Amino acid sequence: RVVVGTKVDQNHVNYVTAYNMLTGIRFTVSRTNAKIDRELTEADFQARHKFSFDITGNELTPSAKYDFKFKDYAPWVFRHLRANFRLDPADYLVSLTSKYILSELGSPGKSGSFFYFSRDYKYIIKTIHHAEHKFLRKILREYYDHVTADPDTLLSQFYGLHRVKIPYGRKIHFVVMNNLFPPHRDIHHTFDLKGSTIGRNFKEEDLAKNPRATLKDLNWLHRDLHLEFGPTKREAFVAQMKRDVALLQKLQIMDYSLLVGIHDLERGNEENLRDKTLQVFQPGGDKAEEQPQPNMLMRTPSKLESARKAKELRQLIRSEKPIPMDQTMTKMPDVMLEESRKDFYFYSDDGGFRATHEDDRPGDEVYYLGIIDCLTHYGLIKRTEHLWKGFKYPESQISAIPPERYGDRFIRFISGIIKTRERVEAEKARHSAA
Ligand code: ATP
Ligand code: CA
Ligand code: CA
Repeated sequence: RVVVGTKVDQNHVNYVTAYNMLTGIRFTVSRTNAKIDRELTEADFQARHKFSFDITGNELTPSAKYDFKFKDYAPWVFRHLRANFRLDPADYLVSLTSKYILSELGSPGKSGSFFYFSRDYKYIIKTIHHAEHKFLRKILREYYDHVTADPDTLLSQFYGLHRVKIPYGRKIHFVVMNNLFPPHRDIHHTFDLKGSTIGRNFKEEDLAKNPRATLKDLNWLHRDLHLEFGPTKREAFVAQMKRDVALLQKLQIMDYSLLVGIHDLERGNEENLRDKTLQVFQPGGDKAEEQPQPNMLMRTPSKLESARKAKELRQLIRSEKPIPMDQTMTKMPDVMLEESRKDFYFYSDDGGFRATHEDDRPGDEVYYLGIIDCLTHYGLIKRTEHLWKGFKYPESQISAIPPERYGDRFIRFISGIIKTRERVEAEKARHSAA
């Protein structure tokens, strides 16, 4: 489980980068959202704006703690995407910049990307390679058209694309996206499923060291697990997955996975309350504090609180002034329940998608799922991998196969693991009878 990261405090090697990312986001997002909404134009998809921050500030940008350059890509498109995914603009800013708290997951994948969580765990900042960055810009129009026509999409929801650079430093590209996992619920098992088997095994021995590790296809199969969706949910899920994968195939994307977090309602949240602490990132804070897990702070804000919070922020946004650094917003609830996610079918059971039985009655598990890591274009690196792995293994088992087949295999695998308990039982009975 990805909950506990490393706190990014002033001693952290990536403190300055994280600080600059959030300062840039705060400035550019409030700048764009301050304007009166309008329709998108073709030019919006190519747009990029460069800002220089320094310690003194200038007529365009406010003073910052460090000198750095920040580039904002397609700000209007992302503003519309955030609206499409029903994010409240004020909420987005608060989550990503209030008190400047982040935790870093380090680099969980092979790619070398870094992941940062917003303080409330709603958002993830992922650093991406230049090639992925260029690719996202290239497909932005099609991604936009797809997710606006089909907002129940399982694809990663992208909320922003930016770049930071400190003097003499390298350029760091990053996206802001949805965290599929909820802040208020324990995820008991996490799987990253691709539908391939080679290299798709997390060594079970290592699970003792890291009980919340992300497991893979082979672990799933060995445990004989299923996505327990009754007929209604199964049909909706498979149909959505097919539409999403069709886009990925068309855009020649591969190497994506279905990320599945399983919350067992019977186990509930007991562990979460007991032993975990959320580590925090606080610039300017003298001592790094440890905070309780967000679920302990979690409460539904009163109507009055929410209204006050929204009003305050809207005023700040309208004033076109960036939100002051030490605007502590203590009157506001630390964590707001993500009301907006309820509007989307696959996130409508308290941010997740609850298991059902063969008769569509609700089951014992809540799944948190989505298709992630969908910025790898086939043409890029994978052709070589296909070649060398292809000598050793049959193509059906390796992950680097052309996008068309990758998608078909993905759909086949995921569809194949969707099965209610009743079905599994019935099949077993049939087997033993035979
Ligand atoms: P690689 O290319 O080696 O697979 P990567 O650096 O591109 O790795 P991802 O595959 O995007 O990384 O993600 C790595 C892990 O981070 C996932 O398996 C998952 O545990 C976590 N993760 C990624 N995206 C999300 C998300 N949107 N919500 C929750 N967890 C996520
Ligand atoms: Ca991946
Ligand atoms: Ca990747």
